[in-house]
Amino acid sequence: MTGQLYGKVALVTGGSRGIGEGVALRLAEDGADVAVTYRDSGDRAAEVVDRVKALGRRGWAVRADAADPEAVRDAVRRTVGDAGRLDVLVNNAGIGVLGPLAEMTPQDIDRVLHVNVRAPFVACQEAAAHMAEGGRIVTIGSCVAERAAFPGSVLYGTSKAALTGLTRSLARELGPRGVTVNLITPGPIDTDLNPADGPAADPQRALTALGRYGLPWDVAAMVAHLAGEGGRYVTGAEIAVDGGFAA
Ligand code: NDP
Repeated sequence: MTGQLYGKVALVTGGSRGIGEGVALRLAEDGADVAVTYRDSGDRAAEVVDRVKALGRRGWAVRADAADPEAVRDAVRRTVGDAGRLDVLVNNAGIGVLGPLAEMTPQDIDRVLHVNVRAPFVACQEAAAHMAEGGRIVTIGSCVAERAAFPGSVLYGTSKAALTGLTRSLARELGPRGVTVNLITPGPIDTDLNPADGPAADPQRALTALGRYGLPWDVAAMVAHLAGEGGRYVTGAEIAVDGGFAA
């Protein structure tokens, strides 16, 4: 607990489970008030908010399907309305539809691109309008955009690679306003999306230099670093938290 985010307000998309849950709690531990969005896991989101409040911070759970751009926009507006400001946006909500190119339906393509690319784009658009100097945007990409080591990740990898363009271009655009924009590319992290005891776990473990999965907390620590003092002069960067997956 550093207290470096006292007085700041953070919004974490997909903060009900997994990496987003870890990020929300870590930012609260550092002193931020935190809003989390969710789609299905309302009970889990409420638990996260209870834990944020137990740390003495303010917390909000906002239902917002990332596939719906107006819901995403509204979640940012509601956070600003409830909290009075917005300092940190963490674009974390994401989905994977895996399989060969030939099997990807137009619906699969739309859904993955809408949730993984359009939602962060719209959230950045809305959040940037409310952020003052010192604002921080952190997006969660993926190691599969850095190293295409898995068959079946063409759609997911395409969506995550697009976040590099968003991050770099937006860092240039918002730099003059003192708002930083960065991308974290996690390796295999033990969550519902990619359980460390799942059928695809051993090959992933073997592809990392450290030979193991990471935890949501490992990604959360990097988000906290970028959101805090450590991120003051970091923008347009892609930072791997991947156990050496892309090495
Ligand atoms: P989980 O599936 O464990 O959690 C996903 C979170 O996102 C949940 O809180 C979920 O909320 C939310 N979410 C999913 N779809 C939507 C939606 N349409 N609208 C709103 N919220 C949504 O995933 P992870 O924690 O593992 O992944 C988080 C991010 O990290 C993703 O962007 C993923 O691509 C990325 N990542 C993960 C890796 C891993 O190995 N785990 C590796 C590299 C990147 P709800 O339950 O309410 O639907």
